[in-house]
Amino acid sequence: MRKTVFGEVEIVWFGHASFMLACDTGLVYIDPYLLPQSPEKADIVVMTHEHADHCAAENASRISRNSTITLTTPACAVRCSGDVRTIRAGDVVEEGGIKVEAVEAYNRNKPFHPRGLGFGAVVEMQKVRIYHAGDTDLIPEMKGLNVHVALLPIGGHYTMDEREAAEAALTIKPRVVIPMHYNHIPGTEADPELFRRLVENRAGDIEVRIL
Ligand SMILES: [Zn+2]
Repeated sequence: MRKTVFGEVEIVWFGHASFMLACDTGLVYIDPYLLPQSPEKADIVVMTHEHADHCAAENASRISRNSTITLTTPACAVRCSGDVRTIRAGDVVEEGGIKVEAVEAYNRNKPFHPRGLGFGAVVEMQKVRIYHAGDTDLIPEMKGLNVHVALLPIGGHYTMDEREAAEAALTIKPRVVIPMHYNHIPGTEADPELFRRLVENRAGDIEVRIL
């Protein structure tokens, strides 16, 4: 478990695509396939698509209390319990001062994630906008996202690799970019230091944080 801070928001990475975003007013998990032994309870759980390394229904139950809201796709929602709401790209949910915007996420040259299967999520809390890309390639919708922090997959095979993700970072222009979705499941071996060089050599105002 590695963590960093942007503004008032703590960003905790458990590995792969699993993150916790925490501030004084709320706690959001995204794709909680990996969790610590005694995780805190969530206000909102976001699961970006139905694949087992993202739609982790049992883990979602572990981090849920009665008031927890789960936001996910229909195919993942059928495996979940509690207050589960299905969302798709374009939808916005606001709850307890936290805003979640679902945005497009899909493959352009791979079969795994056709458009509409899943989504990426922009979570806004304490005026900080954090983009979790989900499983995606570089797509035109990334332009104009207007986010402070971008969590981008770099593992290749199912998603962008280091080079494509660096292009995505240059397209999105966040203040901070954090690589994810690498070196955990087979086929996603990648070098975050290569990603760092590819971004920072071309855009000195984007900071790469390797968690
Ligand atoms: Zn996937």
